[in-house]
Amino acid sequence: MCASGTGQLFRQGTRRAPLLIKNLLPLACLFGLSTAQAQTVALTDARIIDGTGAAAIYPGTLIMDQGKIIAIGNTTDIQIPEDAQVIALDGKTLMPGLVNAHGHAGGVRGLESGHYSEENLLRQLSLYASYGVTSVVSLGDDEEAGFRLRDTQNHDDLERARLFVAGPVLNPTTAAQALEMVDQTAALKPDFIKIRVDDNLGRTPKMPAEVYQAVSARADSHGIPLSVHTYYQQDTKDLLRAGADHVAHSIRDSHVDDEFIQLMRTRDICYTPTLTRELSTYVYESEPTFFSDPFFLAGVEADVLTTLRDPERQQRMTQNAAAQQYKAALPIAMTNLKTLSDAGVRIAMGTDSGPAARFQGYFEHLEMWMMQDAGMTPMQIIKSATADAAACMNLSDTGTLETGKWADLVVLGQNPLEDIRNTRSIKQVWIAGNQLRRPRF
Ligand SMILES: [Zn+2]
Repeated sequence: MCASGTGQLFRQGTRRAPLLIKNLLPLACLFGLSTAQAQTVALTDARIIDGTGAAAIYPGTLIMDQGKIIAIGNTTDIQIPEDAQVIALDGKTLMPGLVNAHGHAGGVRGLESGHYSEENLLRQLSLYASYGVTSVVSLGDDEEAGFRLRDTQNHDDLERARLFVAGPVLNPTTAAQALEMVDQTAALKPDFIKIRVDDNLGRTPKMPAEVYQAVSARADSHGIPLSVHTYYQQDTKDLLRAGADHVAHSIRDSHVDDEFIQLMRTRDICYTPTLTRELSTYVYESEPTFFSDPFFLAGVEADVLTTLRDPERQQRMTQNAAAQQYKAALPIAMTNLKTLSDAGVRIAMGTDSGPAARFQGYFEHLEMWMMQDAGMTPMQIIKSATADAAACMNLSDTGTLETGKWADLVVLGQNPLEDIRNTRSIKQVWIAGNQLRRPRF
């Protein structure tokens, strides 16, 4: 076994990585380590999907320098600088790194929460990156270390997924408290304010309308977008009228109606389905098929698998009423996704991965396969997981392959436009122009 931790990942042949690798890996694992990377890199002979929904370019060339994309287009139109390192991709697909519009990072180790630390964040952001997820918007439970990492990632040495943060999930009980909590969180400069308006299937009190209206107005006065966890269609309509800027989960109680679609479209609000979140509530009632998938196994710790395979644990899940209700709601969520996508609502791919047994990196690929099962086309899904997820979450420097953006890229061996499941055929991941070493795949 080359890697001791989960998703260890190293820059290939970098200015300073060799020492790091020597310290951490047995010599036998150093296969394929290249010499120092030229500052300017040209990826050629690629099928380029730029993320915007435009048709793929083939043969295409992309040139990156100092972490940014400096040229992209048909090979015949691109002049490669003489001193560039040229990497021929032999017809492989080049697309933007995936953007997870709803994740969580830093808190869970194994199946246990309460481990928030910079070290754990870095481990998880490396795991995301090894699966080609190059940006993660963490919608809640973010602490100081997360803000610090968010504030120090705009440089061309970056070797892990970009992190964006919401701070604590706010749960005020009065309008006055709402104002106070939003002000406190705003002082941290979060990318989003996050609230939950949900009764957990009738089991807990729901945030009253006057409270979330106060949150929304105050967040707006600070210029911070409001992302809402909801379940019910009626609540979500009321939240949209109150000014919510992002719907962080599927509508799961009923099929969306014209009024809902209109409310989403009027302000071009984005919708994040988190289908794998629903799956995770019940799928461990027996052994999921993905437990034998090498692509999954590459990123999971053995003791986590052992725990999830425990027959008593599985039995408890079978008898858990909430798990069975979420299971029954998943087909509604999938139908709603197709309806909203067809209606022109922007879908921002997101998984709610990060909490226990919602596997960072793997679940983003699983989510896209479920989106395909729901009826979206591969091109729609790719756009949703790159350009749209980035634009929806206000990430202006990543998410598409365009001149001036960070060179956050994934190289795939197979064409994802034929089947979105081909996103699993990852050959290379680049972040800010640095090729990541991925010893586990
Ligand atoms: Zn969440």
